[in-house]
Amino acid sequence: MNRRTWSEVDHYFQEKLLTSDSFLDTVLTRNRQAGLPEIDVSATQGKLLHLLVKMSKPKRVLEIGTLGGYSTIWMGRGLPEDGNIVSLELSEHHAQTARQNIQEAELEHKVEILNGPALEILPTLEDKGYGPFDFIFIDADKPNNPHYLKWALKLAADGAVIIGDNVVRNGEVTDHRSNDERIHGVRQFIDLLNESEDIDSTAIQTVGSKGYDGFTLGVVQKKN
Ligand code: SAM
Repeated sequence: MNRRTWSEVDHYFQEKLLTSDSFLDTVLTRNRQAGLPEIDVSATQGKLLHLLVKMSKPKRVLEIGTLGGYSTIWMGRGLPEDGNIVSLELSEHHAQTARQNIQEAELEHKVEILNGPALEILPTLEDKGYGPFDFIFIDADKPNNPHYLKWALKLAADGAVIIGDNVVRNGEVTDHRSNDERIHGVRQFIDLLNESEDIDSTAIQTVGSKGYDGFTLGVVQKKN
């Protein structure tokens, strides 16, 4: 098995199971034209986020790492009528591109993009009236993953769903000698999930058009 096969299977499922939606393809094309890196979730992963949002019916969603808003739009389209998303993005250019995409998706009344370093924005959210969040998608710079998880647990409602993307990284997650700070971040994130009594979680390995990776999925169960 190789990446070509994984991509072909991904495209097969995409054709068969994802209603053809040329707008979402346009978002990806626009993101590339705007010079954004090709690190959006895949279409099948976007659909998974969409279905998880549909299943859990969150009123308040927090996303850490917007890029061009591709995952934001997938989630936004699954939100209940009174649901909304706040998404945090470091790059002003990424945030601006995402805002345009979200406006074209007619989701601007449900989605707010906050521009700046997530670790500076997260401590301000509660005072600004955001949260508690019922669904949190962590998909930004991996070295900060343990900090993001601590904030996610703080800002989560009891029963919230927390997803962490890119936790397998070609299998390197098991390499405790790795010099890659992203691997360290992910390993500390996994350790925190292991130690915290406030979240019950699992991790799933995935292959597909984006290669070999995976995500964690957890449900918050606050003890106090
Ligand atoms: N969730 C997006 C999607 O699937 O369409 C992809 C997000 S991309 C993997 C990660 C994003 O996190 C990038 O746009 C990057 O600029 C942003 N980012 C990196 N460091 C950040 C930080 N410290 N605070 C907020 N965002 C950050």
